Amino acid sequence: MLIPAFTSRSRLLLFAPHPDDESLACSILLQRAVRAGVAVRVVYVTDGDDNPWPQRLLERKWRLSAADRRRWGRLRRTEALAALRVLGVNSSAARFLALPDQKLTAILMCNGQSALERFAPIIVDWEPTDLLAPSISDTHPDHSALAVMLRLVLSESFSEVVATGQMAVWSYAVHGRSSAFLDRAETICQSRLEAATKLQAIRCHKTQLKLSRKRFLGYAGRPERLIRLYACDKTIGDGSIVSVFRLPRSLRVEVRFSPKAMRLSESTLFVLGRDDAGALRCVRMRVPARSSRVEILDSASLGYVAGARYYGNAFAGQFTIPVSIFSSARAIFAKLERRSWFFDEAGWLEIPPTASQPITEAHRDQVEAGLATIR
Ligand SMILES: [Zn+2]
Repeated sequence: MLIPAFTSRSRLLLFAPHPDDESLACSILLQRAVRAGVAVRVVYVTDGDDNPWPQRLLERKWRLSAADRRRWGRLRRTEALAALRVLGVNSSAARFLALPDQKLTAILMCNGQSALERFAPIIVDWEPTDLLAPSISDTHPDHSALAVMLRLVLSESFSEVVATGQMAVWSYAVHGRSSAFLDRAETICQSRLEAATKLQAIRCHKTQLKLSRKRFLGYAGRPERLIRLYACDKTIGDGSIVSVFRLPRSLRVEVRFSPKAMRLSESTLFVLGRDDAGALRCVRMRVPARSSRVEILDSASLGYVAGARYYGNAFAGQFTIPVSIFSSARAIFAKLERRSWFFDEAGWLEIPPTASQPITEAHRDQVEAGLATIR
């Protein structure tokens, strides 16, 4: 099954990072779900309240207080409810979690467990047959961070219902043109009527049309795309990360920076996963574009690690970093953060457990030889 096959027994749970993502990426799907008599729940993770430029313009004031931002968040909730009504979804289907807008990556890296504990009960409570989540390849950092959070929740508590197909998990991308997403995504054909209704739903987000009218309305003509997620999907490189190769205790990362992106003097590599006790662990590393040394910023979390060497020239190379703090039986996630404005160059990569990646002895030696000297 490459796209959802809704029946009246289906239960759809859509996670939207911001009010408007339901309209931009899932309008056609929501209309079809409603027509099939599906029970729908839409969870808005943030209120999209950290959105200063349109707010300054619309409210004609430069300095925005916390109260101003809350008011903006309430306005965006109202717009989302109006858009849902256009799509045939009752307002009672919506839930708002009000996590901090533009801060989901920071939450994931610093206090991820608390966020995961918000999501698991929602999934338990709704018992979805189909779960729609943002893509980890989305270039909006809130989208990709939420995607990682949901994958962590699913692998921890729902792996059986996902493996047996009782719950199908689908991912959608809103921002960027990641080939890691587009190459695998299934396109959903839309009728003219469905597209017209989608346009009407997008128009409900008046605050967002103020500055990005053309881009926003353009989403109505773009087909919706989905990827069905399975456990242990192969990792596909994205952005500057060409490939990753995981061994039980190390991770080899091959990078190739585009000359255009060389303006950015350095990038930060995030690596995140669970340790053997199941606790979330994360590490940040500075990857300079023109130096030979990868600097591990949170050395305390890696214990004994001082650094890892970077092999290659200014534009391309590879480094091997120790990942022994992470459980080799669980997936780990990596992202090379290279931001321009508030978008990333690319989202996160999911790297399956080593148990699912059989390798030959010869290859193992070759990879281990790339390990840094550790003091
Ligand atoms: Zn969004």
